[in-house]
Amino acid sequence: APLLEMVGVSKHYMMGESRIDALKAVDVAIMPGEFVAVWGPSGSGKSTFCNLVGLLDAPSSGSVHFQGQDAALLSDDQRSGLRNRAIGFIFQGFNLIPVLSALENVMLPLQVGHAGARAAADAARKRLAEVGLASHLAHRPAKLSGGQQQRVAIARALIGSPALVVADEPTANLDSDNALKVISLMREISKSEGTAFVFSTHDERLLERVDRRIMLHDGAMTEDRRHAPAAASQ
Ligand code: ADP
Ligand code: ADP
Repeated sequence: APLLEMVGVSKHYMMGESRIDALKAVDVAIMPGEFVAVWGPSGSGKSTFCNLVGLLDAPSSGSVHFQGQDAALLSDDQRSGLRNRAIGFIFQGFNLIPVLSALENVMLPLQVGHAGARAAADAARKRLAEVGLASHLAHRPAKLSGGQQQRVAIARALIGSPALVVADEPTANLDSDNALKVISLMREISKSEGTAFVFSTHDERLLERVDRRIMLHDGAMTEDRRHAPAAASQ
């Protein structure tokens, strides 16, 4: 069964009198463990798509189903509970808290979820080791490179073992070398843990690393292509 399904999803915004159709009649199903890129030029609807996939925003029409549940039928509390349990987020600007160490940043979602400090620290240490930052636990974000900061953010997104990670332009602030490294790392984690990833990008070179590419153009899905078995391209 799909992890996430959009059925006839459209999203428009009003700018004064004029209406912007940011997404037009999108039908898509994301399967558990899929590693998916959403590609398109600036303004094509990628952020809108990511916000809908992450249950952060509601469609203007159509429906979004997560693990078989129609998100529109959930209360706001149920929806944010579902998000906290099952969805991790990675942002273009990393969004780490500057006064906290790498370890504390990664622990934070678990502590908000009322896990004990020791259990949260243990889990965060494990996640930071997984992203290659075992020796940077005490570093504050400012002491880390952009690539390292994004790896901390990946560890934070994964701390609750979500079924899905949504990343809107996760490599936009990285040089091309670090961009490839970050995508490869996400992919490795997706494969080893069965976590689905949906990330947006306008960088064509990153598409080689994915199982599936969804292309958006002016809010319409113009392509949805699965590639050869993922292992072949590693
Ligand atoms: P992308 O991420 O590909 O750049 P977006 O999803 O951000 O695309 O935007 C799609 C279209 O919707 C663009 O024309 C954008 O200007 C418009 N848009 C996005 N968010 C809003 C908003 N909150 N209010 C009005 N227009 C918006
Ligand atoms: P908050 O983050 O403040 O708790 P939510 O993200 O739960 O708010 O919701 C933002 C708005 O979008 C609310 O009006 C909510 O009802 C709605 N919403 C979010 N996702 C969906 C969805 N997939 N279907 C229908 N409504 C949604």
